[in-house]
Amino acid sequence: MTARNAPETTTERAPTEVRSCLALTANDRPCRAPPLQGSDFCFWHDPNRASERTAARKRGGYRARGLDPEAPVPEVHLSNVIDVLDLLKTAAQDCLRHRPSLARARALAHIANTAAKVLESQELRDRVEDLENRTAVQAMSDDELLRAAQDILGRLGEGDHEAAA
Ligand SMILES: [Zn+2]
Repeated sequence: MTARNAPETTTERAPTEVRSCLALTANDRPCRAPPLQGSDFCFWHDPNRASERTAARKRGGYRARGLDPEAPVPEVHLSNVIDVLDLLKTAAQDCLRHRPSLARARALAHIANTAAKVLESQELRDRVEDLENRTAVQAMSDDELLRAAQDILGRLGEGDHEAAA
């Protein structure tokens, strides 16, 4: 007698052996990513990883825009004209690091416009100050003018002395 009952081959793997994420992708196909340990879902579909995913996306977004989320933010001062112009200069330099585009041209034009306004207001202030000084000079008596002139000449003399030494 010949043994006709050959042992059944068990090449087919049990479905639990190779696991893949149970979620569906955006186009309704099953996600084929391997699930996380102790979970039925991969990192991008595990409902318990939502906050981590958000953080990872944010980091990715920052990097894509050339930003380092861990870099310390430089201190910004805006208490005088020099500070404001400094900040505008930094902004213009940042713009120029980007490829030429309509948005870049617009941003640069805006920065230039703002800088022009700042410089104009500074110039006006200087002129008002100059006028105020002149008015003060006109209000001086002859004696006061003479003393002021002698004071200036004295200081100039000191300067010459220092320069000669
Ligand atoms: Zn998945």
